[in-house]
Amino acid sequence: MKTTPSNRSVSVGRRAQVRHHTVSAEALRFEEVETTQAKTCKACGVKKPVSEFHHQALGKFGVTSKCKPCKNAMTKAWEMKNPEQCREKVRNWRANNREHVRENGRIAYAANRKPHIEKQVAWQKRNPESKRLSGARYRATHSEKIKSWRRANYGMIYAHSAARRALKLKACPPWITEDQKAEMNAVYEKARELTIKTGVVHHVDHKHPLKNSRLCGLHVPWNLQILTAQENLTKGNRLTSERSQ
Ligand SMILES: [Zn+2]
Repeated sequence: MKTTPSNRSVSVGRRAQVRHHTVSAEALRFEEVETTQAKTCKACGVKKPVSEFHHQALGKFGVTSKCKPCKNAMTKAWEMKNPEQCREKVRNWRANNREHVRENGRIAYAANRKPHIEKQVAWQKRNPESKRLSGARYRATHSEKIKSWRRANYGMIYAHSAARRALKLKACPPWITEDQKAEMNAVYEKARELTIKTGVVHHVDHKHPLKNSRLCGLHVPWNLQILTAQENLTKGNRLTSERSQ
């Protein structure tokens, strides 16, 4: 709190009370003391305002006996001298504050998503073997989670892999809109529903095949159709109109 003419007299009054020990130091609100009190640091011997000290309820004026820079330097020195204990302490704290750590991670990630991803990709490039191992470890320990995610996102997964194939064949036009992508996801989802409902495997087919000797089709909503697997396999890479040939 800033000392303004109206509350200065209050602070001065409280200072007088402290001198006469009518109230304990910790009973005073920290902010009110902060602007008016100074304390001599036990380590460096310099008299500093109490805002230069960490809070400690039982200390004189509710702060520690050593100033922030001294306390921080001591902590740093201890950490350098005891690296293993230090790591252990951090590990314990993180284990006891899982939700807090996760939340902080989420905030930091959201604020810096792009550099985070770039850093991660760069690390993965430098450590391909570690990347492979950690991927395998994750898949081994989270198989249920992966399965249920796949079940919930079937349409998207198949649309993605089809789009990837299409992209390889340069069949995916750059002007395709998000709405059209969603439309295509829905077609793949529909094919899956039909498979479940009828017990007959249904595929999503490109009416004009993406790979054809005469005419290459595009990976666009209006070039998609749902066929049974049987129909699709008989059709092969021919155009729908060529099928009867
Ligand atoms: Zn100090």
